[in-house]
Amino acid sequence: MDEDFKIDLIYPVEAGVEHHKEAGQRSLARNLFLGELSHKSSLSTPPLGLLRIATATPKIIDGRPTSLRIFDDVVEPFSPSQWDMVEKPDVVGISCTTAASDRAAYLVWEATRRGIAIVLGGPHTTVAIEDSLGTGAAVVKGPGELAWQEVLGAVNSGTLENRLYEGANERVLEGVTLPSREFFSIGDYYSINVLSAGEGCPYGCPFCSTNMVKGSYEGRELSDVLPEIDQFRVEDGMVIITDDNFFMHPNVRQIIQRLGERELEWFATVSTRFTEKNIDLIELAGKNGCRILFLGIDRFDLPKNRGVDFDRLLAEIKANGIIPSVGFVFGLGNPTEQQLNSEMEEARRFIMRNTLPMVHLSNSVPYPGTQEFSLKGDRIVRPFSQWDTQGRTVYEPMHFSADTMDRCYFELCQEFYSLPNVLRRLSSLRSMRDVMEMFFYNFGRFQHIKKNFADLPSSK
Ligand code: SF4
Repeated sequence: MDEDFKIDLIYPVEAGVEHHKEAGQRSLARNLFLGELSHKSSLSTPPLGLLRIATATPKIIDGRPTSLRIFDDVVEPFSPSQWDMVEKPDVVGISCTTAASDRAAYLVWEATRRGIAIVLGGPHTTVAIEDSLGTGAAVVKGPGELAWQEVLGAVNSGTLENRLYEGANERVLEGVTLPSREFFSIGDYYSINVLSAGEGCPYGCPFCSTNMVKGSYEGRELSDVLPEIDQFRVEDGMVIITDDNFFMHPNVRQIIQRLGERELEWFATVSTRFTEKNIDLIELAGKNGCRILFLGIDRFDLPKNRGVDFDRLLAEIKANGIIPSVGFVFGLGNPTEQQLNSEMEEARRFIMRNTLPMVHLSNSVPYPGTQEFSLKGDRIVRPFSQWDTQGRTVYEPMHFSADTMDRCYFELCQEFYSLPNVLRRLSSLRSMRDVMEMFFYNFGRFQHIKKNFADLPSSK
């Protein structure tokens, strides 16, 4: 009998994020008061990219049955020393975000020194190829599953190289279904029901690389999406739909109806202008289990927001029993201090006027591959490990200092998450469950922000 072909897939933790299992081991009281509610307050889900790689892995490679393990370092710290205790894997695959790139580089080093073949993919790798190749790993650009067969073939023949593997040029969304979710346990996440109904976005917001990396929105076939929904169990949590523009799916009505028939609650991200033009979708969503709709406004003057009556849109969402969640990004472009302050003031008034219970305030981060990176990439002052959209400014602004940017952002958050403000914003909610969950969401967010700004120099 041939030995198994062993594959370890790892999702490395971002710097400063507490592992969920460690947070979970604290007492409830400590969790509440120390704010270590990371996975519950951030709607955390298993790493979908690695699930897709698992799906794309053949059951047998060159006559050897495959044996595949997935490690989510965010849940529990992954220790490379286990490669010394059990049989070494034939290959290790890592999916990497920007803030986790140092941790990923460390894991590459640990695998390489043990002679294990290693391949690096994920969102950061796709836009920072030179940086990723510098770790010494084989590198996959774009959806990893497209290059996976080639990578496995090279591992099997002992010819995997420190170079770029790209796979097919066009996206292949048909036939991509999730494997059984046996790899994950609901206790470690907010939800293990994750659905990608499609990918991409037609807009080109300056801080986001989705359009560049994935192109315009493309929905998966209904014949793939519906069976996936049928596998979800209510007890595994609210369905988190990962699309950036879910309502753009050509068959969105059928998908929404199936979610409703299965009595599943769900969360989705939708775009402002498209939703306003298809306003009937909000009522359909409300009647079929939609609990939260996230709208990235980000900055009012972006093209995707042109002509949108936000107050009306948000009122419609609330009237249909859905919690509206809204995102803003501050510091885009090269604003003067006065422009920055007026952007913040406009957002502050808007949020309070609309009593929004769930808001994501971001300090702009110029991720590689974005227009923001072309503007600010030569003024970066913090390493990737500190890149956090709710953290310290990572570049030197053109018209004022990074400390000034930090102070303006942090003061806005302090005011925004103050108890009176939170209570006022929660007053629009209808049920005690919503109030409790949104209270802890706000509390958890602010604890995370406070931790990031603990060493902010005093202005005096
Ligand atoms: S609408 Fe959202 S996904 Fe699309 S480019 Fe803007 S931020 Fe990115």
